[in-house]
Amino acid sequence: MAYDDSNIFARILRGEIPCKKLYEDDYALAFPDIHPQAPTHVLVVPKGRYVSLADFGATASPEEITGFFRAVSHVAKQLGVEESGYRLICNAGPDSHQEVPHFHAHILGGRALGHLLAPG
Ligand code: 5GP
Repeated sequence: MAYDDSNIFARILRGEIPCKKLYEDDYALAFPDIHPQAPTHVLVVPKGRYVSLADFGATASPEEITGFFRAVSHVAKQLGVEESGYRLICNAGPDSHQEVPHFHAHILGGRALGHLLAPG
């Protein structure tokens, strides 16, 4: 799938749509999910144009991959959920209901999250 520059996270990265920036560096931007599913629900998106984890893993540079995952762990610590725990979700493809075709990680926490999958 080709990258679509009109996706919502591309527009947020370009500053065309506002977000509450929680963290930003050369590799990633973190901001709260607009429809939070837990007391803490933050999205971390890489700065590069990657559709999915498959695309990111296959084509991003080692620096981008390291930088992105360092940013994710940094944000989890910044959010104060490292000790209490959190869940990292990267939806990929139709079965996951990935809505936004720009690779991203959800950090969810702030309460006991229960079993991995809710009933479909
Ligand atoms: P996905 O299903 O693709 O893994 O998750 C996309 C997430 O982006 C959803 O949880 C949705 O609530 C969130 N989202 C969609 N549009 C916006 C937006 O304009 N701003 C923010 N902050 N989050 C958004």
